Amino acid sequence: MKKMRAMWQTFRSDVDRRVRTTRMLGLLFLAGGFVVIAKAWDGASNHVRVDSQFPYLLSGGFMGVGLIVTGCMLLVLASMRSERQAQSKQFDDMATLLSRTLGRMSSPAGATGTEAIQVLAGGDTYHVAGCRVLEGKPDLPAITVRQAAAEGLAPCRSCDPPRLAEVTEQNSSN
Ligand SMILES: [Zn+2]
Repeated sequence: MKKMRAMWQTFRSDVDRRVRTTRMLGLLFLAGGFVVIAKAWDGASNHVRVDSQFPYLLSGGFMGVGLIVTGCMLLVLASMRSERQAQSKQFDDMATLLSRTLGRMSSPAGATGTEAIQVLAGGDTYHVAGCRVLEGKPDLPAITVRQAAAEGLAPCRSCDPPRLAEVTEQNSSN
């Protein structure tokens, strides 16, 4: 699970880099487009006769507009990507919060034994209250063992909290 989380982290920062690169490319294309149009304008103004201005304006204009359109598309793509990223992060947080709330509401009646025991949820692991790993982190949410297992949290090695029997079986068969 820790490995998967690490992979997800690198994937996320990878997306970050891609968004930045796409944004840079978009700005480059935009700048290039304006330069090309300015050059075409310049080239055309060197010719006094209108019919010899046309080739410059046409080819330069089309190329410039093409570059600008491409640049805009890249910028839009980058912002869409980063937005989706932010949304999926928010969605993850919301899903965790919701399932915790639901778990807390349903656990007193539904769950019994080990899975109803309250533990504290850390980033990757869960703990019993008073674990020394948790020193300086007083605000960890309290969840049930079942919820911790559902979120893929591993039992802390230091305080050795209760764990679900079915979960340990699954782990050993993998
Ligand atoms: Zn612990």
